[in-house]
Amino acid sequence: MSLLSVQAAQERINSHFKAVETETLSLAQCTARVLAADILSSDLPPFDNSSVDGFAVKARDLAETASASPRTLRVVADIPAGSASDIALAHGQAARIMTGAPLPKGADAVIMVEDTDFNNRNTGTPAPEIVQAFKKINPGENIRRRGMDVKTGHKVLFAGNKLRAQDMGLLAMLGVAKVTVYRKPRVALLSSGDELTPVELPLMPGKIRDSNSYVLASMIADAGCEVLPLGIALDRYNDIQFLLDQAISMNADVIVSSAGVSVGAFDFIKEVVESQGRLDFWKVNMRPGKPLAFGEYRGVPFIGLPGNPVSAFVGFEVFVRGALGRLAGLKTVARAKVRVRLAEAVESDGRESYLRVVVEDDGQGLFVKLAGHQGSGNLLSLVQANALLVVPAGVKSLAIGAQAEAWLL
Ligand code: AMP
Ligand code: MG
Repeated sequence: MSLLSVQAAQERINSHFKAVETETLSLAQCTARVLAADILSSDLPPFDNSSVDGFAVKARDLAETASASPRTLRVVADIPAGSASDIALAHGQAARIMTGAPLPKGADAVIMVEDTDFNNRNTGTPAPEIVQAFKKINPGENIRRRGMDVKTGHKVLFAGNKLRAQDMGLLAMLGVAKVTVYRKPRVALLSSGDELTPVELPLMPGKIRDSNSYVLASMIADAGCEVLPLGIALDRYNDIQFLLDQAISMNADVIVSSAGVSVGAFDFIKEVVESQGRLDFWKVNMRPGKPLAFGEYRGVPFIGLPGNPVSAFVGFEVFVRGALGRLAGLKTVARAKVRVRLAEAVESDGRESYLRVVVEDDGQGLFVKLAGHQGSGNLLSLVQANALLVVPAGVKSLAIGAQAEAWLL
């Protein structure tokens, strides 16, 4: 069987995934959800308001003012934040105003309280009857004009983006109480292998813990999806079939499994999936994680990752994250990538390699060192790593000081 390039495998997988349906939720339920419709703004801020605590004035009244020649104004209104005044300032008049409060008619500037003889900024203190200003002021000073941040009709948030904290705040500012987002895709997850023991149970001779379930469940949740944990399938036809049928009855959008994709006598996954679907076994030109299975079971896409813990992790990063991102409606799913310099030489066998590395900043840029030995079962080196260094296909070695791309984990 010939080797499939990473990119060709990604394209084959991605072509089977498109966004799930949308749902409309109250804003508070939308944290980290994927927006399904563009959001148009109204004017922000919604009205002219003061950016300081002080006195709203007519700037012309203070055109000649200086500390040596103060100007006295009559205070005719008091406008705390949250209230509006319908007075209109005449020449020689001022209104006490708090940060964020609407500018009264007739005013075109705000003089800061520090530039007056009234130094008490506590709310609750009555406004003075007169105030002395010590400074010249220009029209527009200390005013946030309606629409100065964004004007009505501007597209401010885009379908296909995950809602971050600041996005949530903008939606609230705009009064968007109900938001249309993509529903969370459901990802059924199973581990397979007779050697696997759940973390709660004692280890019998020859057995190991099922760690992939925990690694992959975290990655699925991090990709914005709901995990449907199926547990461990023993290397038995009926066991595997039972769990796959559970995935179907739970309405999974995709089934992800680990192990049982290398050609081995006890790997029944192929037989079961093909009984009611199809399954292709690929050898991908990458390391770790060369064997990969892709197909569908009873109409639901099935991705079979390799069993070795690091291979399963890298396989998820390279193939599953993108597929889940498409299901979730995300416009872009790529991890943050950085250019790094190698602090030590690295060897590869010519396959596209994802090496566990530690990225550090030495003050002149980012450099990387290997995080430990790169065996595909060595989860500790992945724990110690903070990035994957990508050695492109066809490259057999990179010298000290060479530049490469790293994916920050
Ligand atoms: P396999 O693909 O079934 O040949 O498994 C490859 C290697 O990965 C074997 O050493 C398995 O014991 C190990 N392995 C498989 N599944 C898991 C799992 N869920 N957690 C930890 N190691 C696993
Ligand atoms: Mg196995």
